[in-house]
Amino acid sequence: MKIHIVTDLEGPSGTNGRSDGIGNKTINIPIACQVLTEEVNACVEGLLAAGAERIIVWDGHGGSNSIDITKLHPAAELGTIGGELYPVTFLDASYDATIQLGAHALQGVADGYMNHTYSSHSVANMWLNGEPIGEIGINIWKAAYFRVPTILVSGDDAACREAHACLPDGVATVSTKHGIARYTVINRNPAAVHAELRATAERALRNLADYKPKTLPDAFELTIQLMCPNLADIWEKRGAERLDHMTIRIRGTDFIDVWSQYSGWAPGVHNRKFGVTPDRNRR
Ligand SMILES: [Zn+2]
Repeated sequence: MKIHIVTDLEGPSGTNGRSDGIGNKTINIPIACQVLTEEVNACVEGLLAAGAERIIVWDGHGGSNSIDITKLHPAAELGTIGGELYPVTFLDASYDATIQLGAHALQGVADGYMNHTYSSHSVANMWLNGEPIGEIGINIWKAAYFRVPTILVSGDDAACREAHACLPDGVATVSTKHGIARYTVINRNPAAVHAELRATAERALRNLADYKPKTLPDAFELTIQLMCPNLADIWEKRGAERLDHMTIRIRGTDFIDVWSQYSGWAPGVHNRKFGVTPDRNRR
């Protein structure tokens, strides 16, 4: 079995954040990177116990600089993304399952520790087909495009809640901490988190058949409310539909193409370059 893991840096137990006025600032980056890597390794141990043969970890936070490869479990490989011509996901239909570690809640969730949606300085709200969505949901939809089930999400309580809301038919979750406000939190002890991650990853993969990717609708509408009008001006110049002074919309029938436009690709270019095609019938 081939497993994909995508990581973020705000969700592990022990990441310490503050606001820089609007957005997030991690004030203990070396420790945050260490606790994330240890959570990844605990998850990898569980996956191996359940029969995983290949595990690719995508360092998904910011500039892909959160995981020290020298400390990564020897059975795992590490993917990093940089430059201009990058794929918007390391996923394809060859994976059996995907996992999100270190996840955080979408922008504006009161108890979501370091909550934000991609850019903590520019995105006020994001909706997919009318439903509020953040990074957890977007990653679930990316995987669904390739018919890959999301089997496990870890992060604070609010992140776990968000994962269950997006996958009401079932996803395993491991809470790493209990958020009180955006920068106030009670972290679980890492040893307890690691033990739970190990056991939950193993159980989830052993019961892989219980987890299903979301059913894809025929069309996608991604609506983004920016934090100020000048940010919406940039989107309008790129060709996005302007709904009001703060809000833009991207539409399409192919989710990865719609999502690539969020990352600055012109329509169709990303999928042509990386050979991405919608294939709903591989499983
Ligand atoms: Zn994030």
